[in-house]
Amino acid sequence: MKLVKQLVAAAVASGLSFSLMAADLIVYNAKIQTFDGKEYSAFSVTNGRFEQLTTDSQSLLAQKTATTQLIDAKGRRVIPGINDSHLHVVRGGRFYNLETRWEGLTSLKDALALLKKNVEVTPEGQWARVVGGFSPYQFKEKRLPTSAELTEIAPNTPVFVLHLYSGAVLNKKAMQVLGISKDSVAPKDSYYEKDAQGELTGRLIADPNPTILYKTIAALPQLSQEDQLNSSKQFYSKLLSLGVTSVVDAGGGGHDFPDNYQASTVLAVTGKLPIRVSNYLFPQTPGKELSSFSQWMSNYKNNQNLHLHLDNGYVVEGGGELLAWKASDYENFMSARPELDADADPELEQIVRLHLVQGWPFRIHATYDESIERMLTVFETINQTQPLNKVRWIIDHAETISDKNLKRVKALGGAIAVQGRMAFAGEDFLQRYGKAKTEQSPPFKKMLELGIPVGFGTDGTRVASFNPWATYYWAVSGKTVGGTRLYGKENTLDRLTALKVFTSGSAYFSGEELVKGQIQPGMYADFVVLNQDILKVSEEKLLQTEAELTVVDGEVQYVSQTAYPALYKKPEAATPAWSPVNINHR
Ligand SMILES: [Zn+2]
Repeated sequence: MKLVKQLVAAAVASGLSFSLMAADLIVYNAKIQTFDGKEYSAFSVTNGRFEQLTTDSQSLLAQKTATTQLIDAKGRRVIPGINDSHLHVVRGGRFYNLETRWEGLTSLKDALALLKKNVEVTPEGQWARVVGGFSPYQFKEKRLPTSAELTEIAPNTPVFVLHLYSGAVLNKKAMQVLGISKDSVAPKDSYYEKDAQGELTGRLIADPNPTILYKTIAALPQLSQEDQLNSSKQFYSKLLSLGVTSVVDAGGGGHDFPDNYQASTVLAVTGKLPIRVSNYLFPQTPGKELSSFSQWMSNYKNNQNLHLHLDNGYVVEGGGELLAWKASDYENFMSARPELDADADPELEQIVRLHLVQGWPFRIHATYDESIERMLTVFETINQTQPLNKVRWIIDHAETISDKNLKRVKALGGAIAVQGRMAFAGEDFLQRYGKAKTEQSPPFKKMLELGIPVGFGTDGTRVASFNPWATYYWAVSGKTVGGTRLYGKENTLDRLTALKVFTSGSAYFSGEELVKGQIQPGMYADFVVLNQDILKVSEEKLLQTEAELTVVDGEVQYVSQTAYPALYKKPEAATPAWSPVNINHR
């Protein structure tokens, strides 16, 4: 199979026609627009790659053989698979089956009703939890639940509701289980909120340090190894149902490589991981970053693929999004901007130099321009003796990056990964920094105009939803999921450009822009038949975008039951049986 793929790729590269090969798959009656603006209605797939692309469905269908699978797109929009260039997908998979998700709900009343349904089946010793991914502004009530409301729906079950990395709300039972009292001492730069009478409100506040939130999440029960495997499968299926076919994973706190990666790794090595995942590795212990990276670099080659059969299926890509704990800022817009540690620079320099020596790409989390300013100064020093553009390197987030620093990124050959975090935290940012600053936060249109490689992502699952259509909606409308306008025309994208950034643009971040992200002959046949035409429907409707059918490497990995009943397979139940996934998402 692999050899055939290489031959096909070689044939494409040399411009040879190979139309005599029988197509494995033909998609017809489709609405396709390539990024050069041309329109097509059908294509064929052979050995996991797009082969022919045409406006003439009939003559393509005439080439079918007995083994060709035919898919009628029924006039629907077909796009290259979405590539989330910043998602904590492997970590998300470990926890998915335990979480109630509030994605897409428009009232707090409904959100609490859903949570109550989960509480009612949560066994003793377990928790009900909503671990971020929503904005209080998406609710018509425009607020978070109170501790009293959580206690009312769950008098005997501990409940944890995370609000981005800004704070959390616990019910009474949760406070008891965690032993939080008026005398409890919170970690540095955070606190247990108290009311005017000095009583605990049940809210944990990161100010701006989210360690109080990380610690609480880590204290909650986890799934067994077996259930983590099921949970990861459920999460990948959910992503496929939204049209995601590739992810560039950004590591994550409380998520150690390789120990915490077992579920996704098992899926990959057994050939069952249905999405292409490229992993950037994230050191967990402050002060030990260099030794973590050294160890990974001696155990793994950069670009090593662990997937049984999928090209670039499960890859060790590089280091980040955290490189050095001292050189990391927090994106909590409800609090003042944090400074990087005074002595962060030499550590960062050592770690980046190691990546360059080993030829490992790296990415670095940086929310604020002041942080980016310091990082770029370090990078420019390094660049005098070790060219930075020897590897791909990425700034992640960059919400407040200045024009000056955009140009420095460009000059050093860097790329920027942009996520729809402001769709969830935009109201908080607007309140603190005002309208003028908000209008370019982050200035993704300027980045593109400067020719900096840009990819879109979500930064799910906690500080934003994993739903890529929330990010897409934000980038084209300039609005939050709560409907608040953040940007004008000077910082929104037309729909085709936004799609390009979310597919072809994101492919740059795993070094794959020449092999995926476009419906073009020779590229990976990763594509999606959508439930609605994202180039035409109203902006508000974009939030309801889903896949009718998702294909990765020429294989159908997801179909909706209503659109393709003949191809539909009943999904495996989530485990344990009380999982919110079984109740909410079916
Ligand atoms: Zn980050």
